[in-house]
Amino acid sequence: MRIIGVAILIVCAIIFLLPEPEGFPILEYHQVTDAPLDPDFEIYNVPPADFAAQLDYLQAEGYTTITLKDFMYAVRGYRQLPDKPIVLTFDDGYADNYSEMLPILEAHKMTAVIYVITNELGRAGYLTFDELKDMERRGLEIGSHTSDHLPLTELDDTFKRRQVRESKIYLEWSGLQPICSLSYPNGAFNSKLEELLREENYLTAVTGEAGLNTLETNPYELYRVHIRKPRFGLTEFKFRLWKAEFFAKLRAL
Ligand SMILES: [Zn+2]
Repeated sequence: MRIIGVAILIVCAIIFLLPEPEGFPILEYHQVTDAPLDPDFEIYNVPPADFAAQLDYLQAEGYTTITLKDFMYAVRGYRQLPDKPIVLTFDDGYADNYSEMLPILEAHKMTAVIYVITNELGRAGYLTFDELKDMERRGLEIGSHTSDHLPLTELDDTFKRRQVRESKIYLEWSGLQPICSLSYPNGAFNSKLEELLREENYLTAVTGEAGLNTLETNPYELYRVHIRKPRFGLTEFKFRLWKAEFFAKLRAL
């Protein structure tokens, strides 16, 4: 057992010493509140004070937030990415993304991508359509987290297509700009989904796999690092950013 432990330590040390990997992180948030909607999922909730401290840190480190539309413009060669890009994403469409998160985001002059479950919109604890529209007007990108948040890899072909198509159509026909990005519910994805998303006119999709993204990364399998409720303040947040780098190095081996 001791030999295995030493071997793991040596491998980690080698990875740590490798040169800094290329690419930018995409962060995955859920709720930003002191009072989570469901206490069983409290781990997915970042208190506003911690969130503000995280944005202060990103600003001090010279990061510039972009949307995934900005990323696709860069992939297609229409726009350049800033020096140190980062994407902030919020899954599930919780009401506090508007009431708590948005004011902190705007105070830092930052942007984000909000992935909504369309059949939850307007329900207690979730965003309303008017709030979503207002967030878009203020420069945030709205994406789909499907109609019902079911893991797409477990659905039959017809139902799977309906989940990605109907959520997009609902948001667009309600007056939002074209919906270009999807967040896989529960992070469940496989290579077959890329074809489906292309056919349904999505340009990007985010997973729950840690890593960094470059203009060459498959846009339907973008890496994201999960930001949980921190137990060790900003140190834990820095660790999460480091985790994205660590996995990027690992994939490059
Ligand atoms: Zn989700």
